[in-house]
Amino acid sequence: MDEDQIHATLSRMLLAGRLPGGTKLGEHRLADIFGVSRERIRKVLHRLGHERLIEVVKNRGAFTLAPDPSEVHVVFEARRILEGGIAAHLADTLSPDQVETLRAHVDRESEALKTGDRRTWLRLSAEFHFLLAAMTGNPVIVQQARELVGRTTMLVAFYENNAGAQCGCAEHRTIFRALASGERARAGKAMSAHLALIETRLRPLACVDAGPPLEDVIAEFMEPPSPPARTRRKAQMKAEAQA
Ligand SMILES: [Zn+2]
Repeated sequence: MDEDQIHATLSRMLLAGRLPGGTKLGEHRLADIFGVSRERIRKVLHRLGHERLIEVVKNRGAFTLAPDPSEVHVVFEARRILEGGIAAHLADTLSPDQVETLRAHVDRESEALKTGDRRTWLRLSAEFHFLLAAMTGNPVIVQQARELVGRTTMLVAFYENNAGAQCGCAEHRTIFRALASGERARAGKAMSAHLALIETRLRPLACVDAGPPLEDVIAEFMEPPSPPARTRRKAQMKAEAQA
């Protein structure tokens, strides 16, 4: 596995928020898991630190981001400003094709929720926000949105993982309707309100359990080798992991 593949695997895992904050990402352990040298792992960790997906502490090593209530507020505020602006902008600029793409996306969210497919629903609700950012066609916006949404996902992972802490499906539809009808102010407000609601729905966990073993979580996010008997299940896991 080369550095890019290791980086991609760890990024997917971190962005999915599957590890509690402050989990040590030891070089030795990761080198064993990926079967590469510590040198390679160090480079990947450095890059992830630079992208602010992990915290690299001098002389102590790399850790998943730890939750800090003031950070939660600051990140959500940044999202309201950025994504409220994205929504307002898109209300003026969406093409009919983009409106249909969004409609289909919101419909898939509802469908996943209705059929109780929670993992798909969670993936689709995060994708809704990436999709809007991508529709601006502006790579700077896309990069900022990726970072902020990723940080939110990781922060939310520390909080009570109930449906209330996630994106409300009806709220996405409200945003979509404002966008589809080209109502700039309403679209911006609907997005800000949605992000404010997610923030207020967060409830800190009474106690943070120790996370699952690092090896297990990483295995879940690796590209599967696809042996025939398990191909279908793995393909499904892969699709989920790429969210
Ligand atoms: Zn949302």
